[in-house]
Amino acid sequence: MFGIWGHDKAAEITYYGLHALQHRGQEGAGIVISNGRTLQIHKDEGLLNDVFNRSHFQELKGRASVGNIHYVTNGNGGVENIQPHLFHSQTGSMALAHIGNIMNRDELRGQLESEGSIFQSETDTELLAHLIKKNGQKINEQSITNALQQLVGAYAFVILTEEKMYVALDPHGIRPLSIGKLHDAIVVSSETCAFDIIGATYEREVRPGELLIISRDGMKSTRFALREQRRLCAMEYVYFSRPDSDLNEVNVHTARKRMGIELAKEAPVDADVVTGVPDSSISAAIGYAEQCGLPYEMGLIKNRYVGRTFIQPTQELREQGVKMKLSPVRGIVEGKRVVMIDDSIIRGTTSMRIVRMLKEAGAKEVHVRIASPPAKNPCFYGIDMSTREELIAANRTVEEIANLICADSLAFLTPEGMEKAIVQQTTLNQGVCQACFTGQYPVKKNRK
Ligand code: 5GP
Ligand code: SF4
Ligand code: MG
Repeated sequence: MFGIWGHDKAAEITYYGLHALQHRGQEGAGIVISNGRTLQIHKDEGLLNDVFNRSHFQELKGRASVGNIHYVTNGNGGVENIQPHLFHSQTGSMALAHIGNIMNRDELRGQLESEGSIFQSETDTELLAHLIKKNGQKINEQSITNALQQLVGAYAFVILTEEKMYVALDPHGIRPLSIGKLHDAIVVSSETCAFDIIGATYEREVRPGELLIISRDGMKSTRFALREQRRLCAMEYVYFSRPDSDLNEVNVHTARKRMGIELAKEAPVDADVVTGVPDSSISAAIGYAEQCGLPYEMGLIKNRYVGRTFIQPTQELREQGVKMKLSPVRGIVEGKRVVMIDDSIIRGTTSMRIVRMLKEAGAKEVHVRIASPPAKNPCFYGIDMSTREELIAANRTVEEIANLICADSLAFLTPEGMEKAIVQQTTLNQGVCQACFTGQYPVKKNRK
């Protein structure tokens, strides 16, 4: 998710911002722009580059814009689910972009439907729009605050109207969201790597429970909920975000490297070389190697022209993806005892193939070390791992998984090690969600 307020090239800059966020999803993209009087939209399925070309930017004119990259979680595929969503009413229009997951969606939707609302998509975005417009309310700070107060879950929203931009983050700050500046323009992004690409400077995090109102008068900060202890998604650090992003002022590469260091302290092994699965586990592999005093080598090469395998929605596609994606480097692994670092094991597809691949390329032993704890629980906060049956670690011991993936040994980082690697004393109110690893959910559906 990316937004900008107060720039002549708002749509183009949103495009560049989204380009830096492409790794967060590959199913679709959309941009809405405001020229102060009307809102215009273009969105479609596919990668950003397939959805937009030069001609679109001749039409999308205005000084405020919001864009989104579409990431499919539990069955929200299809073009009608691509964001932002644009809504028109007699009192004005609004575009909404959202990441996360509203846990009390069904209840709220049932309530609204019984009062006469009709929905055209499955999205949380549309739900929020209906809540805001309930009883014919105007779209303003009050109606948005009231709507946000009814939500339970993890969410980050950008709402664009003809005259204002509203930005909100859930009370636990589970999803990342940062504010930056580009000259006089205000920018907001899921990850700071989008600021770097457009030459913007980082200002601060959107605070948990905060609602920002950005207009001609500048930026006003209000609060729709009490700020809770921050619970930023640990998986963002483990896998999801780009290594050059800072989340809650902690650099992702550095956190990953520290995860590798902690892993080496917890689970060292007698070996000849350390290798990582590109790209997301390279940082952890470097940390592991450094801590053990072993050489870090490129034992696996990634084909640059294949997308993220996990994000493709079916298992069959995912399995094919891994074959196309990674190749062993025989000269490096042949006859060696290899430590293979991966950032995580979710369904087990990747590790299983890679151990086999390395052995076929002549590795004498393959010791698998995972730079996060076993993922045993579903995520209810917007990351796609929502069924327990799919998780290889859900009902298996570490030894059983090691046998299944044919590793000579296997160890995972502990939740304590992971937290130590991420949470740094220097940032106030730090804290992470580790629910998919520990089962301790910071937000429960029936909390209210
Ligand atoms: P598996 O192959 O075990 O199903 O998934 C683990 C691999 O997918 C890891 O190598 C990791 O890089 C990637 N991965 C792990 N967690 C996630 C996630 O939450 N989202 C996405 N998109 N990819 C993940
Ligand atoms: Fe992130 Fe896991 Fe928490 Fe979901 S449950 S928000 S993936 S740490
Ligand atoms: Mg990987």
